[in-house]
Amino acid sequence: MPLKIMILKFFNNFTSEAQRRWVVGSLVLVGGLVFLAWYYMGLGLRNEPAVSQELTSATPVLEDVELEEAMFYSQLEDDRVQCELCFRNCVIPEGERGFCRARENREGKLKSVVYGRPAAVHIDPVEKEPQHHMLPGSDILCIGTAGCNYACNHCHNWHLSQRAIEDMRVYELPPEEVVARASEGDVPTISFTYNDPIVSYEYLYDTARLAQEEGIKILWHSNVAINPEPLKKLLPYTDSITVDLKGFSEEAYANSEAELEPVLEALEIIAEHDVWLEIVNLVIPTINDSPEEIRALSEWAKENLGPEVPLHFSRFTPAYRLTDLPPTPVDTLEEAASIAEDVGIHYISIGNVPGHRRNSTFCPECGERLIHRVHFSVLENKIEDGRCSECGHEIPGIWK
Ligand code: SF4
Ligand SMILES: [Zn+2]
Repeated sequence: MPLKIMILKFFNNFTSEAQRRWVVGSLVLVGGLVFLAWYYMGLGLRNEPAVSQELTSATPVLEDVELEEAMFYSQLEDDRVQCELCFRNCVIPEGERGFCRARENREGKLKSVVYGRPAAVHIDPVEKEPQHHMLPGSDILCIGTAGCNYACNHCHNWHLSQRAIEDMRVYELPPEEVVARASEGDVPTISFTYNDPIVSYEYLYDTARLAQEEGIKILWHSNVAINPEPLKKLLPYTDSITVDLKGFSEEAYANSEAELEPVLEALEIIAEHDVWLEIVNLVIPTINDSPEEIRALSEWAKENLGPEVPLHFSRFTPAYRLTDLPPTPVDTLEEAASIAEDVGIHYISIGNVPGHRRNSTFCPECGERLIHRVHFSVLENKIEDGRCSECGHEIPGIWK
């Protein structure tokens, strides 16, 4: 039966004008909803350019696979090795892995089990890291692997960081492929994030070198509890780092089974290099939220890193093993921001509180709102050629 006759027959079932109007109205409404769903899904897909599409993940079987040899380790007696990458300096017997679960002693040689095997590959906005002074509103290609050299009780990514690679599905994505996908998708920055990238050092290092050749920027989000030598080797291939400062006391670091001193040492080294740096302090009730600790952290940052390194105070929400604490009160975060302002830090933000005034960036000279943000979205950017468009004050960062 021709389509036209079918449509006429369908409408003849409805005898009154009111019934017909109702049917037409309903069809228009359903059609509109279908169009909107298609349109937004289209946007969603466009937001994943050549990244996780066509990629398939699988649980890795590594026994018979040749693994990438680690950098920075020494061989000891009895086929043991000592990893020299991070503050733990793990001594690892043959056949076993270090604290981070990402590096394995195979027949007396240290190998990376996560090289080229990310468990998470996504496109995110750069604001999510957070980075507020790096290409505002741009995309980053995010790579995360199994393992971590910390064991934070509050970890939001514990399913990656606190498990072995065999307990998850991973992609086969060597460094060349990461860079090619960023390049094909017109993504200006690759970010190693989610778990701590220190434990996938060789993967990050090789990717960073290739990215630099292609003009793609490299960002990593880390606790920076990395030893000085590997840090210095990586910095020439790094554009920007987001550092999680877990607090400013050994007690706060105990919540991550870690230590404060190696982090401060690494931060001082980073500050001496031409690398953009932003600091995040997740403020956790009773763990690191005292005004004295916030003041000590802000003073140290101003003195050792300079007042222009942005400081983000982020809201804790219960996760992993820390579910018996409440989310951080917004008042506590506002007090932390006031303390940092009083100390003389120029760029202070409040994170994980969508819509808060301090999601935005303000000019320290004239007070103009330079970048209007709501959570991870940039609504307006008034920085022109690295300067405040109102008063011309120079705003440090990576703007192109
Ligand atoms: S990177 Fe991993 S194996 Fe190496 S010292 Fe740190 S925790 Fe241990
Ligand atoms: Zn200004």
